[in-house]
Amino acid sequence: MRYRRLGNTGLAVSEIGFGTIPILQGSVPVLPDYFNLSEEDALSVMGHAFSLGCNLYDTAIVPEYGDAELKLGKFAAHLERNRIVITDKARFYDGNEMYQAVLASCENLGTWADVYFVHQVDPGSEDEVFGKGGALDALVELKQQGSIRFTGIASHYYDILLRGAADRRVDVLQGSGNVLERGMLDRIRTEPLFTGKGLLVNKVYAAGLLPAFFPVETLIGTVLSYPVSCALIGIGTVKQAEAAMRWEENFSGFVPTFLQVLSVLEKHGSPIPCDRCQRCACPHGTEIHTVFRQFQYAFMGKEYWALRKLNLGIKDSARLCRACAQMPCLKMCPANIRIPEEMEKVASYVLQRSKNTS
Ligand code: SF4
Ligand code: SF4
Repeated sequence: MRYRRLGNTGLAVSEIGFGTIPILQGSVPVLPDYFNLSEEDALSVMGHAFSLGCNLYDTAIVPEYGDAELKLGKFAAHLERNRIVITDKARFYDGNEMYQAVLASCENLGTWADVYFVHQVDPGSEDEVFGKGGALDALVELKQQGSIRFTGIASHYYDILLRGAADRRVDVLQGSGNVLERGMLDRIRTEPLFTGKGLLVNKVYAAGLLPAFFPVETLIGTVLSYPVSCALIGIGTVKQAEAAMRWEENFSGFVPTFLQVLSVLEKHGSPIPCDRCQRCACPHGTEIHTVFRQFQYAFMGKEYWALRKLNLGIKDSARLCRACAQMPCLKMCPANIRIPEEMEKVASYVLQRSKNTS
């Protein structure tokens, strides 16, 4: 296992971080596989990863990741506290709510969190989070009091991560990226504002879907070829811990280009050549990169989830595209994707699959 600097925090973290969603017990809709681990088994899997050099464990407040935070606390109690880095998070945007959430998390963990993130910051919540008296201010106060060591912003949106990168109150960022959705990582690589911030990357396996198409060492090696601190991998079994923590033993050094990734996926469906760089914007409110991602996830194996999400708005999005005279999004896309045509393709796919499954 190799270790990297976590930005300017002074911490060194393992290149592979342990994502704790799969160790939970309970019903959490984001979970791709339910292992339903008992506390004993969860501790054993976490311990196995530790024995292979893992020192970063990422969780979220109960009940966002079920009981995972409690299990991580039990695990931490068996170790000298400074042997692992605990990163935790909660989806509260108001300062008072965040303050209480962090105290609850520390009680669940039985210790401090090394980094605490405002979780899932999106365009609807960012102004509150970054604003006076918002969640970020609360994290700064908790840092001064010693309840946490460093502050963090976690988001799937490039512009929000960039805002975090420019904000002196933020120590660490958490974003998503993988061989397919790498546009955001490409932008981070060339943006100097990210220098000095720790960066954890989640969705390396795209919610468990990509290992059906690519070896895990290729998935991990690609993400770690970017200037990131740590790739977070959700782990629920000893076998998964072995595959992730020992990835380098099987890694040839080959990092596929985006076009090579598409050509693999084209054998299984018709992916949209979108790397999710998030440079496009629709004045009518369609979140283009999210629609395209849901389409890719549908044919990669998460069809039920994707159809449910797409059904909520794809008809309207396609209708808006048909009526759109200026089509400003086209000029913003460096990949020259015919966005309205792809929107139509997604709408037809959803209609067809919904008929077949009803
Ligand atoms: S073509 Fe469609 S996605 Fe593009 S700006 Fe117009 S409505 Fe929005
Ligand atoms: S559609 Fe184009 S601009 Fe928009 S996220 Fe995809 S690649 Fe980037």
